[in-house]
Amino acid sequence: MKSLSKTFNLDRLKQTQYKAVWEFQNGEVDKEQFECRACCDKEIIVRRDKDGFLAISCDCKEEKKIKAQKAKEQKRYEENIQAAKIREGFIGKTFADFKELAGKKEAKLAAMDYVYNFEFYRKKGIGITFIGKCGRGKSLLSHIIEQELLDKGYTVINVVAKEFYDDIKNTYSNPAQETSKLIDSAKKVDLLVIDNLNAKRFGADELEKLFIILNYRIENNKPFIVNSTGDMKYLERQLTEDHVSRLIGKNGDPIVVGGIDMRRKHGEAITKLREQNIDKLRAEGRG
Ligand SMILES: [Zn+2]
Repeated sequence: MKSLSKTFNLDRLKQTQYKAVWEFQNGEVDKEQFECRACCDKEIIVRRDKDGFLAISCDCKEEKKIKAQKAKEQKRYEENIQAAKIREGFIGKTFADFKELAGKKEAKLAAMDYVYNFEFYRKKGIGITFIGKCGRGKSLLSHIIEQELLDKGYTVINVVAKEFYDDIKNTYSNPAQETSKLIDSAKKVDLLVIDNLNAKRFGADELEKLFIILNYRIENNKPFIVNSTGDMKYLERQLTEDHVSRLIGKNGDPIVVGGIDMRRKHGEAITKLREQNIDKLRAEGRG
């Protein structure tokens, strides 16, 4: 009898709480202010039924848990891979920052598609190979992809090929550091971006070490993005046939980032600015 009345009291307490949530969720509240508009950040959704109020758990509760777990993983990967620090100039860039589109539009669309449909590509282990001359925007595009996917709660590591290789080499030659942590992180992260794979500057050993990681990812359906200078012929000349066929087999045909050299364009703007400033000095009679 005692326990029955206790249950009853608990139920009443719950009903009072649910009622308050129901009134809040169905009242005149601006839902824009909440991260989850379905539950107004209450993590439950309350409905009315004939006996009172019913609560179901909101999907955002589980999503929050997964996101927190992913953030923890991301931190660990960044700690284990020194070369993974996001470069200053790319912080906060979005697709809106990718301009000067002639010759670059297809690449931008491919990058946008990749972000929007990442769950599909991730499950199939499909990545992207960007090719193109220096300064065309390969690094910018892959950094935008990285930041968009981090926002969505995925783990992403973006490394410059040469620095990444140096990290690997250093940990191999220094037994105090743990190579396995580095390699493990590069294998496990949701998306690995290898920027600036300028094969001309890489020896056979360096390429082999990088491809140990890429091959693992290929075999385990884990996607990666590779940015490489030059065109397809260049890749075929610099990499082994096996490497090229693996890249194409997993990422499809390389996507060309062409058009103008964005760095030169920035350089021209700086030159113009400087000339204007010097003209001003002259006009003021100081030059
Ligand atoms: Zn919710």
